[in-house]
Amino acid sequence: MAKVEFTTPELREDRANPQLVEGAMSHSSPYLASADHQKDLGFPGELVDGWQQKAVAKLGELLDKNRALRVYLDACVKCGACTDKCHYYLGTGDPKNMPVARQDLLRSVYRRNFTLMGKIAPGLVGARDLDEELLDDWYKYFHQCSQCRRCSVFCPYGIDTAEISMAARDIMDHIGKGQKYCNEIIGKVHKIGNNLGLPEAALIDTMEGLEEDVEEETGVAVKYPVNQEGADVLLITPSADFFAEPHVDGLIGYGKVFHQAGISWTVSSYASEAANFAMFIGSYEQMHKVALRIRKAALDLGVKRIVFGECGHAWRVAYSFLNTLAGPWDFLDPKYPVPQHILEVTHDLIRRGALELDPSANDDKVVTFHDSCNVARASRMGDMPGGQFEIPRAVIKAAVNRFVDMPEDTICDKTFCCGGGGGLLTDDLLELRVKGALPRMEALQEVVDKHGVTHMAAICAICKSQFTKVMPFYGFDMDMVVSVHQLVGDAIQLGAKE
Ligand code: SF4
Ligand code: SF4
Repeated sequence: MAKVEFTTPELREDRANPQLVEGAMSHSSPYLASADHQKDLGFPGELVDGWQQKAVAKLGELLDKNRALRVYLDACVKCGACTDKCHYYLGTGDPKNMPVARQDLLRSVYRRNFTLMGKIAPGLVGARDLDEELLDDWYKYFHQCSQCRRCSVFCPYGIDTAEISMAARDIMDHIGKGQKYCNEIIGKVHKIGNNLGLPEAALIDTMEGLEEDVEEETGVAVKYPVNQEGADVLLITPSADFFAEPHVDGLIGYGKVFHQAGISWTVSSYASEAANFAMFIGSYEQMHKVALRIRKAALDLGVKRIVFGECGHAWRVAYSFLNTLAGPWDFLDPKYPVPQHILEVTHDLIRRGALELDPSANDDKVVTFHDSCNVARASRMGDMPGGQFEIPRAVIKAAVNRFVDMPEDTICDKTFCCGGGGGLLTDDLLELRVKGALPRMEALQEVVDKHGVTHMAAICAICKSQFTKVMPFYGFDMDMVVSVHQLVGDAIQLGAKE
C-alpha cells in the first residue's frame, strides 16, 4: 500500500467529509476459516447444506437469548446521526461502512423472517431473504467493523452496531463461513494457552531474559515469575507482552511496580493470554471455554488476586463477563475486586505513596494518550464514573512531566478506534486497517503540529500492534507508540523504597 497523504489541514478536512464511493471496499474480505481452523471449536468449516434456513434459525436463537439485539434491530429510525461516526466510513468513503447501513445487512433478514410487515410486504420495509449476494456482503462488511461502539455513543437510541456485528459473525461461524484469523487464534488458546502459540519453555526463557535485562539496567534483582505457586497475584496479560516491542516494555513496568510494592506475583503458562477473541465472533461458548483456563490457573497456583495487563477487549471481557463466565471467585482474597486492572493497581499504589516515581526520567518525551475503545466505551476502572478515562491519565501524569490530550472530540468515550480491533488485526485486511486508522492519525498529527508530541501511549495490545504497523503509512515513526507501564517502568526509582 502506498503512503497515505494527509499532511495539510485542508486535506485532513477533506478526509473528514469523505465523498461517497459505492463499493470502495467491496474487494476487502478476510481469509475464510477451513475445517482445520474450526475443528476444535465445533463449527462446520465449510458452508453447510441448507445454510439459509440454518442462518435464520440461529438468528432466531440469538434473538431469544439476547433481547437487546431485537431492540437494536427494531429501534432504528434512520436519523443518520451515526453515519459519519465510523472510522472505516471516514477512511474509505464506502457507504456500506456507515453504521446504519452495516446494521441493515442483518436487519433486512430480521425483518423478512421475524416481523409481520417483512413477511407480507418485504419491499416496503427493507426486508430481504438471505441469499448468496447478501451473505457475501455480511462476510465482507461485518469484517469491516471493529466492534468499537463509537457509533452507539452518537445514536439517540444507543443502538450498538458491535452487538449486531457479533451476532452476524456468530451466525456465519455456525453455517461454516467463519473468519480464519479469529478461529485459528481461539484454537491456539484451547491447545497451548495463548494467541501466539508460545509454549511454556518459551515463556520461561522470555521471563528469565527480562530478569537479566532489568538487573543489568537497574542493578536490582526484579523477579518475573512463571507458575509460582502461592504468589499473591496471578497476572493475566496479552501474550504480545511476552513477545514484541512496545508490549514487552509494559511487562517490564508491571514487574517493577509489583517489586517496589512488595507484591508477589506470577504468570501462568496454562492461562498465558488475557485476550479472548471469542468475543469478536460473538460466541459465548468459546468465551466461556477460554475464561475457564484463568479459573483453573488461579486454583492450581493458589493465588489471592487476579490482575489483568494492558489489553482493551480483554479488560472488556474481564470487567463485564468474567464473573458470569468463570465465577464464583470465592477462593480468592475478598479484600480485592475480581478482576483488577494493572492500571487500577498502579494508580492505587501511587495514591498511597507506595511507588517512587521520577517523571523527569521521561523528559525526553511529550506524551499523548490513545483511549482504547473497549476500555473507554465498554468497561470501567476504579470506583468512580469515568475512572477508565481518569486512571490512565493520572498514571501517565505521575510518570511524565509533559502530557497533552488529543482533540476533545476524539478522546474518552468519543475516541476513535485504532483500526485493528474486533478481530481485524490480520494482514489480509491491511488496506482496511490503514484506512480505518485515518481519524486517529489525523488527531495525532494535530497534537504533533501544535504541541510537539513525540509519543502516543496506549493500554491495549491490539492498539499497540496496529499502530506500529500502520503509522509508517502516515509518515510517523512506529517507535512513537509506548505502553503506559513502559512510562511507569522508566520513571520508577527502584531501590528507593528498599
Ligand atoms: S462499532 Fe465501530 S467499527 Fe462498527 S460500525 Fe460502529 S463505529 Fe464502525
Ligand atoms: S443513529 Fe441510531 S437511530 Fe439513527 S440511523 Fe444510526 S442507528 Fe439508526
